[in-house]
Amino acid sequence: MPRDTCPVCHNSNSIASYRYNSRQRLIKNPLYYLAKGIMSFPSTLRMMKFIPGMQDTKRFKRLKTSAAFSGNIIRCNNCGFGFLDKSLRYEELEDYYSFEYWGEERRREDLPAIPEYSARVVGQYDFVKDYVQFPCQVLEIGPGEAEFLIFLSLEHDTKAIDVIEPGDIWEDFYKKLCFCLICKYFSKPTRTKYDYIHTSHWLEHQQCPVETIRNLFSSLRKGGVLFVEVPNCNEEYYHIVSNHRPHVCFYNLRSLRLIAEKVGFTVKNIGTFGFSWSEDRKWRKEEDDRDEFDYQNRPNSEGINLRMVCFKEKEDR
Ligand SMILES: [Zn+2]
Repeated sequence: MPRDTCPVCHNSNSIASYRYNSRQRLIKNPLYYLAKGIMSFPSTLRMMKFIPGMQDTKRFKRLKTSAAFSGNIIRCNNCGFGFLDKSLRYEELEDYYSFEYWGEERRREDLPAIPEYSARVVGQYDFVKDYVQFPCQVLEIGPGEAEFLIFLSLEHDTKAIDVIEPGDIWEDFYKKLCFCLICKYFSKPTRTKYDYIHTSHWLEHQQCPVETIRNLFSSLRKGGVLFVEVPNCNEEYYHIVSNHRPHVCFYNLRSLRLIAEKVGFTVKNIGTFGFSWSEDRKWRKEEDDRDEFDYQNRPNSEGINLRMVCFKEKEDR
């Protein structure tokens, strides 16, 4: 069902709309667009299940994903939050994140002999370290290669590290690291209450922003800390980025803070870091060397990375 009311501030007036993906492909390949249109009917997907071998082909999977992640982005011009005008079905997302999102090439069988950390991980750690008391009980949702957790476990004592990750390829890797995979999807508050929850470029993949952050609040114990990093969807973002897949929510400083405060968090620190979107595009075109630390972490009011650290100072409402 089409949606037009902002889920963050409930504004339903004066909202702007952007295409989710550019139309370039329509011009280059109209047949692809036609197939994608047909695939977007739930009945087509159900019928396809009966054709032997069909579901396992790469082309089928690509078309299915492409049909699912489509539509328009509505941007609220009160709080600036962006959201899709259609909901994605659970089974589409499940298939996509359990296998297709990661592919086989990202599989990491062995632990790194000498751990190497991306500049982003170091920047996130610097941003959050003064707010977290160690040793503590940690959860990361959507860790993938788990670089942040490996870094954290070498820097500090942690009582336990739990993870929630839909990607099938990481299961054995987490076992070797002694990280406990508690489930694949975060759809309700966890039974264990954590001291620290880390989410990096995960929240923008979740369809219900307020409900998700409320569930994060309920998964922390009193005094617990949440870290969130998402792409900073400022004015420049909408003019420069033309393909948004597979993101379904688009946050800016104002809307991210608004949701956190709405569910009861106290925002301790929030800011944007790294190159701007126009610097990022220029770099991609010219493929010059870039200073990775600067690219991810330079304090910049128009930076591509939006970071927030917030406290649960009160019990659940
Ligand atoms: Zn709004």
